Amino acid sequence: MMKRRFHGVDLHRAIAQLNSVLRPDLIVVDGLKGDLYNETGNTPVAMDRMLLGTNPVEMDSVVADTLGYAPRDIPYICHCADEGLGTCDLDQINIHALNQATTEERFTPPPHYSRRFPCHISAEGVCCTCMGNLMFALERLKDMRLLKKKQVFMIGQKSRMPFSASGDLTVSVGRCAAKLHSADITIPKCPPTANEICENMIAAM
Ligand code: SF4
Repeated sequence: MMKRRFHGVDLHRAIAQLNSVLRPDLIVVDGLKGDLYNETGNTPVAMDRMLLGTNPVEMDSVVADTLGYAPRDIPYICHCADEGLGTCDLDQINIHALNQATTEERFTPPPHYSRRFPCHISAEGVCCTCMGNLMFALERLKDMRLLKKKQVFMIGQKSRMPFSASGDLTVSVGRCAAKLHSADITIPKCPPTANEICENMIAAM
């Protein structure tokens, strides 16, 4: 329940505050296979990294760098560093690697979802599972050529209906968005599965 509430406030500040009271004794990063798109792992990338550390700010800074992000570009890392919970200066961080990476490949961040799909998405305050499921569904709908510019997907506790949505097909995905918006298609589950999102869209076509 607390995790969901975090998504309804300033998530990055909430993560920083959580880190100010919870101090882990040991952090293990399982980076054997990651996913550059979402946490559900439908596009695995072999990275062969296992890392050990004790400071979450330092650990996340190293991992962010590996994934192609500057640590200070990620607001919660910035807040944590500014509040003295750890450094994000990569030159000062000493992380223990449990294994030797078989590749020195560096990764680039994936395109933002707003550039991946030919539709409008408002996803402020969304939980990761809900978003992951929507991404799966949009991939499938894109493959089926059912995504269009004049579709608006709203998902999350702070999602917004665009001012210029008249004439568009509006879709409220998840219980939070269903409470906020009166849309053409409403999927009031928490969270809805990718298949439920697809079935609702296909039925409306
Ligand atoms: S509907 Fe989605 S965004 Fe809302 S609480 Fe459930 S999982 Fe989170």
